[in-house]
Amino acid sequence: MSPTSTEWSRDSWKSKPVAQDVGYPDQKQLSNVLSKLETLPPLVTPSEVERLRYQLSLVQRNEAFLLHAGDCAESFDACTGENISSKIGLILSFSLILIWGARLPVVRIGRIAGQYAKPRSSSYEKLPDGREVLSFRGDNVNGLDPNDRTPDPERLLSAYFHSTTTLNYLRSLLTSGFASLHHPRDWSLSHVRSPSLRREFETLVDGLSDALDFSRTIGADAGSHSYERGGGRGTLGEVDFYTSHEGLMLGYESALTRELPVPASVTQTGSSALGSSGPINAHYNTGAHFLWIGDRTRQLTGAHVEYFRGIRNPIGIKVGPSMQDDELVRVLDVLNPDKEAGRITLITRYGASKIDAHLPGHIHAVQQSGHPVAWICDPMHGNTETSSSGLKTRHFNNIISELTSSLRIHTACDSRLGGVSLEFTGELNDEGFSVTECLGGSMELSEEQLGLRYQSFCDPRLNFEQSLDIAFLMSNHFKK
Ligand code: PEP
Ligand code: MN
Repeated sequence: MSPTSTEWSRDSWKSKPVAQDVGYPDQKQLSNVLSKLETLPPLVTPSEVERLRYQLSLVQRNEAFLLHAGDCAESFDACTGENISSKIGLILSFSLILIWGARLPVVRIGRIAGQYAKPRSSSYEKLPDGREVLSFRGDNVNGLDPNDRTPDPERLLSAYFHSTTTLNYLRSLLTSGFASLHHPRDWSLSHVRSPSLRREFETLVDGLSDALDFSRTIGADAGSHSYERGGGRGTLGEVDFYTSHEGLMLGYESALTRELPVPASVTQTGSSALGSSGPINAHYNTGAHFLWIGDRTRQLTGAHVEYFRGIRNPIGIKVGPSMQDDELVRVLDVLNPDKEAGRITLITRYGASKIDAHLPGHIHAVQQSGHPVAWICDPMHGNTETSSSGLKTRHFNNIISELTSSLRIHTACDSRLGGVSLEFTGELNDEGFSVTECLGGSMELSEEQLGLRYQSFCDPRLNFEQSLDIAFLMSNHFKK
């Protein structure tokens, strides 16, 4: 019998070992906070979650492409209007470039509105002054300041409210014309300093304007998106956007998990796991549309896999070099026993030098198992290194190398890369300059320049220009 085949409940994960667990000194305070969270309103709805599941099933069928992107970790201080709009602007620009090249709809999922918690390789950090303190675990657990490292449950509430604030502004931006394909120049292109990148983006935008004018002339502008279940709700001027975070803090995640009716549009079309008649309830994580299990918390008999197996949201699984082929299939058997389309996205992150040794075996094992999955490449997390000045960085060439290897291997294995997962930011400093955290790219960022505007308190992110470099590279690949 599978170790996880027993009855699932919102709290059944508590009987399993919790990797990356946080030791709160005051359990009473923690349970008060979690009780409060249980009463607060959902951030997302079942119909949004189901729409994403459906769109991810199209990614699995090669009818759409997935862009998963944002900060490694959000911080409470960086929750500002400018930061949110520049993040969305970059995701929209990136997806527009992909749509233009691949001629496929792009499903956009931001690492946003809840991406606060961080898994750590070590529980303790040695400070330069010799002191040893608890590691920083993200703004929803403790403070970056070494004197503020005691886990504080109130931070979970603060994370909830920062998530709602972010989402509130995000929803306003998306419905007030900012995301309109008719105004792509609003997405802060003015800050792109490389003349050739600017030219390339402007040529694309001019082509798009012509295409939109043409559609308007022939009256095709008001139609529905063909990739929405049950007809579209918007025009070309509106876009879908979804939120995601790593489902690391299980107390928080289960407090936001609610048993709610599955929308009729889903039950009527039938789903093997749901049955087909009468109103049906399911457990939705209402804190984000999409959640993923990190590479450090995906143990088959652990608490995270147990929690994730019971929620209806589409989920991601990080797949690194330590994942065995048969282990991957067993994780899929537990998390998607009915082999439902749209449920699982595998986010591979091996490193440029390791992908050849692992990805073909993983693809083959999944193909043999008959599990439907979307494969997306995270070329960031296997390529982190320390620069000579001690800053954590990633080299653009390694990122490109893992990505192009992934495209090549999928083709060779009769599979298809369905998307990318990136850590990037459109954030600018007061003088309008981008961050300097990853090396290389068309701007040829050097080791000496890394310290200029290094703003990440977590993993190094691609900046605006480096991200557009990747978007054009992928777009050109799919054009061929
Ligand atoms: C992340 O996505 O920020 C992360 C920590 O990834 P992984 O679990 O793949 O290391
Ligand atoms: Mn990261």
